Amino acid sequence: MAIPVVAIVGRPNVGKSTIFNRIARERISIVEDTPGVTRDRIYSRGVWLNHEFSMIDTGGIEFADQPFMTQIRNQVDIAIEEADVIVFLVNAREGITDADERIAQILFRSHKEVILAVNKADNPEQRQDIYDFYSLGFGEPLPISGTQGTGLGDLLDAVVAHFPPEVNDEDDQSIKFSLIGRPNVGKSSLVNSILGEERVIVSNIEGTTRDAIDTHFTDETGQEFTMIDTAGIRKRGRVYEATEKYAVMRAQRAIDRSDVVLFVIDGADGLREQDKKVAGYAHEAGRAIIILVNKWDLVEKDTKTMGEFTEKLRGQLQYLEYAPIIFVSAVTKQRLKQLPEMIKTVSENQQRRIQSSVLNDVLLRAVAITPTPNVKGHRLRVYYLTQVAIKPPTFVVFVNDPDLFHFSYQRFLINQLRDSFDFSGTPIRLIARKRK
Ligand code: GDP
Ligand code: GDP
Repeated sequence: MAIPVVAIVGRPNVGKSTIFNRIARERISIVEDTPGVTRDRIYSRGVWLNHEFSMIDTGGIEFADQPFMTQIRNQVDIAIEEADVIVFLVNAREGITDADERIAQILFRSHKEVILAVNKADNPEQRQDIYDFYSLGFGEPLPISGTQGTGLGDLLDAVVAHFPPEVNDEDDQSIKFSLIGRPNVGKSSLVNSILGEERVIVSNIEGTTRDAIDTHFTDETGQEFTMIDTAGIRKRGRVYEATEKYAVMRAQRAIDRSDVVLFVIDGADGLREQDKKVAGYAHEAGRAIIILVNKWDLVEKDTKTMGEFTEKLRGQLQYLEYAPIIFVSAVTKQRLKQLPEMIKTVSENQQRRIQSSVLNDVLLRAVAITPTPNVKGHRLRVYYLTQVAIKPPTFVVFVNDPDLFHFSYQRFLINQLRDSFDFSGTPIRLIARKRK
């Protein structure tokens, strides 16, 4: 479940972003290949030789107004904090610089798995010269070229060979969830209030995953939960945590590891751009989502306030129409008791399986209500509907011509599915395939 993380570090201009983008684009198949994915430039997830991993380009986290070495130091600290394997990138054309040596020292002290890659080794002569880099102390340097795309397969082979042994968590029946939201919306307060509930029993099992910062607890029904990344919420104070890109990357990592995402909004303050970005990522990753409007105690209310707030929010987050909204307060603990039950419900919905026979009854009825569209004289025909996956529920509909299966009819069918079964809190995917 906790997939390994790879970070690329090195001083500016050695080619970190070039390598990151090349690997993300060509060398690994992106897991979430739904159209319109908001892919952040510094964080990506993929697979190499059946090993799933995520990857961070530390160079993408910039620290304006800070001295050169401080910037690099922050980036290397992030890599050490976040990654299982670090790719230390240097430049074949420039040889070893002072900054390279400083980075090497920091990495060396971290005792992390480090792979030294020498970029810009574009031709055989340059590949000859890389042996100087042995003196950095990280073993055999791997020659690569970001512009030519050479050496990347060997690099990825070395990377996956250094992954920590897989943790077998098949016995783990817990529902994994995380709290996501801008700074100051009240995430850590909510965490403390949830764990402070008397009916919740916290049992932190250390050392079972690399992210031993997770919190495990059981509710009164015996359901187990794992709260992801609470230390990321609680520990504070390092400089880089203030940068938005770091915060977004952190949130994306937590989302990747979660089944359910609690998307926290400040009820007194409303929705901002940064909120939408992270919510969009959770949606596209197929996570179940509950929207928590926090600090509801601060809002002056009458009988209409909740309805109006809901309507506005639905307008701003149209693609999250399926996500339940709950108005809470970390301070007064209003409605927090309901939360474990809600998390459980959306998690169940996310794993719901519907038999094909039942699905095709729904399909027949749907087509009877709203006949399939006619596009330039060609009528869409839908033959058969079947569920192919859960987490999120994914359906394949066999049609005569997928090009005729437009967005509006797709939406209509998804809505029919939502009307017929309880999929509240979970995204649904619908894929059109040509019937052979
Ligand atoms: P970063 O600051 O470390 O992220 O570096 P960039 O990825 O932005 O690359 C810096 C410059 O080096 C860009 O102009 C790239 O086109 C160039 N570059 C990256 N990889 C290679 C390479 O393998 N060979 C050559 N010749 N140039 C490269
Ligand atoms: P985080 O950055 O998202 O973890 O936010 P914090 O939990 O640190 O909360 C930020 C500030 O909002 C703190 O001063 C909290 O005391 C306050 N706060 C959090 N939740 C609530 C709430 O439900 N009601 C009120 N009135 N204040 C809250």
